[in-house]
Amino acid sequence: MVSRVIPVDSFDLVIFGGTGDLARRKILPALFRRFVAGQMQEEARIIGAARSDLDDAGYQEFVREALAEFVPRAEPAQVDAFVSRLGYVPVDARGTNGWEDLAKRMRTGVIRAFYLSVGPGLFGDLAERLHQYGMADEDSRIVVEKPFGRDLESAKALNEVLVGAFDESQIYRIDHYLGKETVQNLMAVRFGNVLFEPLWNSQYVDHIQITVAETVGVGGRGGYYDKSGAMRDMVQNHLMQLLCLIAMEPPSKFDPDAVRDEKLKVIRALDSVAHHHIVRGQYAATKDTASYREDAENPRSFTESFIAMKLHISNWRWAGTPFYLRTGKRLRARSSEIVVVFKDAPHSIFGADQGTHRNVLTIQLQPNEGMTLDVTIKEPGPGGMRLLDVPLDMTFAEALGPEAEEVPDAYERLIMDVIRGNQTLFMRGDEVEAAWAWTDPLIAGWQARNDVPDPYDTGSSGPEDALMLMHRDGRRWRDIRE
Ligand code: NAD
Repeated sequence: MVSRVIPVDSFDLVIFGGTGDLARRKILPALFRRFVAGQMQEEARIIGAARSDLDDAGYQEFVREALAEFVPRAEPAQVDAFVSRLGYVPVDARGTNGWEDLAKRMRTGVIRAFYLSVGPGLFGDLAERLHQYGMADEDSRIVVEKPFGRDLESAKALNEVLVGAFDESQIYRIDHYLGKETVQNLMAVRFGNVLFEPLWNSQYVDHIQITVAETVGVGGRGGYYDKSGAMRDMVQNHLMQLLCLIAMEPPSKFDPDAVRDEKLKVIRALDSVAHHHIVRGQYAATKDTASYREDAENPRSFTESFIAMKLHISNWRWAGTPFYLRTGKRLRARSSEIVVVFKDAPHSIFGADQGTHRNVLTIQLQPNEGMTLDVTIKEPGPGGMRLLDVPLDMTFAEALGPEAEEVPDAYERLIMDVIRGNQTLFMRGDEVEAAWAWTDPLIAGWQARNDVPDPYDTGSSGPEDALMLMHRDGRRWRDIRE
């Protein structure tokens, strides 16, 4: 297989927060890798804009150091060529400093992209100033990081500010989960094959599990996290987006609004969740690591570092099929996966002593991306008919060759999509609002009841009650493993 790199049109990309952690770790390395792949035209420019008092040379040095750390095998000549495209303008998002300089730096006749990699409190100020200083024209697009609001009201207010300066078609609300190769592969497998879609409903699917497990705690950003919790930080955005892609109806075409219309319908069809179908937890201390409450520096914190829940989607396709979601910190392994468990064959011709054998489609997003389908076969060899479940590897690394291993990371794909003007993998304003509209009453419910999260052991799969959530239904979670 020969991978095709189609260069994108020339652009000026401004990274607000260009000296921040996300820019250093993700955005700049992603741009560098696309540059090396030949996707950026000769004249493409990247401009860092942040509070630090740097000049172009100072920023170039900063980026060199970031690349040395995060792309250690980069070729020096390529690093030189890449940093020569970089500039820097010190700006104050809340004041007037730097804005005229920035406006003068921007070229006309090329795509202008503004990546807001700053705290969410500055999104509105930046959008307004871009408008005020004449940088929000029809060639412009704006990329907004998470978190997009903390409830429906704040998300609406933020949407209002953004659409005051930019058209919805110019706003790219980023969720890096959507940029993963496997997430797009999921759509290809679902909608490009005739095999799966007829089975993709409550008649054939027993249940679906979505797990996003992390091993890290909240240390270092405990203060921020304690005001948020797993529901706001992970479920409302990442898990909800994965749920939408797995549950949505086939869009009429693979086009941004057709896809996003279908995702929105899923969110709107979500039932409210009974409180006994939600389990919240906080990780406990070990002899080497602090507890959640210690990390959050809040001994009376009721914020969850883990959540599991059972959901239902009220539509024809999914009526009766439960979706189990869970996410948490300090769990056994770092692993994100979606598991579609199909129902048993209606009748076993091989006899009851063969046990249960089910087809299971596993879509793994982290740490390794891939897809497997467990199928039941005969155990090879003489000695009668014994059944065995084996995973069929659907990533087809062998068929696709070594290049399949070098898939661009999510930020690479998403930033190039911004330049191309393709919003399919970005959240639309109404989707984000609908997700908050579903989330808010659940949070208000446990706050009103003063529910205390259950403690769970570091390195475990979460609180015991999360396991019971499935056991009660005669099901079990897949083990959390890398
Ligand atoms: P950071 O604190 O490391 O960097 C913030 C940047 O904003 C710095 O460059 C700083 O100079 C700039 N800045 C702050 N105040 C400013 C002002 N008044 N005017 C101009 N610039 C100003 O933050 P980060 O971790 O890079 O996060 C940036 C955004 O990305 C946040 O919205 C965060 O929620 C989101 N995010 C971060 C990560 C991550 O891994 N770091 C992951 C997902 C989302």
